[in-house]
Amino acid sequence: MADRQAPLIGRVAIVGIGLIGSSLARAIARAGLAREIAIADRDPAALARAEALGLGTSYYATAAGAAEGADLVIACVPVGACGPVADEIAPVLSATAIVSDVGSVKGSVIRQMAPLLPNPRRLVPAHPVAGTEHSGPDAGFAELFDNRWCILTPPEDAEADAVETVAALWKGCGANVEVMTSDHHDLVLAITSHLPHLIAYNIVGTAADLEQVTQSEVIKFSAGGFRDFTRIAASDPTMWRDVFLHNKDAVLEVLGRFSEDLAALQRAIRWGDGEQLFDVFTRTRAIRRGIIEAGQDTASPDFGRRPAVDAAPAAVEPPVTAKAS
Ligand code: NAP
Repeated sequence: MADRQAPLIGRVAIVGIGLIGSSLARAIARAGLAREIAIADRDPAALARAEALGLGTSYYATAAGAAEGADLVIACVPVGACGPVADEIAPVLSATAIVSDVGSVKGSVIRQMAPLLPNPRRLVPAHPVAGTEHSGPDAGFAELFDNRWCILTPPEDAEADAVETVAALWKGCGANVEVMTSDHHDLVLAITSHLPHLIAYNIVGTAADLEQVTQSEVIKFSAGGFRDFTRIAASDPTMWRDVFLHNKDAVLEVLGRFSEDLAALQRAIRWGDGEQLFDVFTRTRAIRRGIIEAGQDTASPDFGRRPAVDAAPAAVEPPVTAKAS
């Protein structure tokens, strides 16, 4: 825990007080990492709620209001909104201000934000690989990032002290930090997070369209596996629309591989090739064991979602459900 007399950061601005922004505000406050937590949200109701919950030390209707005088500004908005946020805060940023984000896609965030910032070398993009299917300031909780990974994707010429500050912030919030290129991040997350979400959205949509399976049967027998997909498919539509629009190439690449593997399974079922099915299922079982042993999930049968903490479910982005070849 950081020394409350000497916080890591003077003023941190959190733009967007949704699930991730509000969890970050709580985690920063928990560890005493900043002297001031300035919160901005375009929605007056969300901002009022953040104030009622005491998530920050000051509250602003605009991103620029919170960013003024900030040492670190973190955009906690959907990936597609990062460019407009950079555009809005650029005129008020101090020469030494660090800019970061929490978006689930990194290459696009850099392409959107860097050209608009007065000093792009102080842009340190971040992605905490932790979340739930809930949204808004009430959904957040300080423990969300504990023992989860936070991936930083600083451009090659990023200033070292800026990277160190953002890394220290996430460590202070309980996360383990890893640094990689944005391209590598986007490919890894395409298979571990984006494709599983796409599969969940698709299977829930398909089940809803199956007229011979009544809705009550879908709900009644959902413990057969479907329930876990419905939970993931309840994730925020704006956030996930932006993920797929902004990580198009990597998602299409892994989707192509997935479709080939699915066709192979389809063929094995058609030809009664039990050996192949058994081999594939044995290999995937070992991957699941590896995730649990790495401390990134529990062995609970609810797709890795931990039990609710004060009504706010702690969870992780879902584990790999596709063959990670
Ligand atoms: P959220 O709970 O829906 O919060 C989104 C926030 O962004 C809200 O404050 C929302 O404001 C604001 N916002 C939406 N569109 C905006 C726009 N066009 N301009 C300015 N502000 C806008 O979503 P979240 O889960 O915190 O996601 C935020 C970011 O975290 C996303 O980039 C996402 O990829 C990333 N992330 C999410 C997860 C996860 O599991 N949820 C995990 C890791 C990273 P309003 O109050 O007006 O709606």
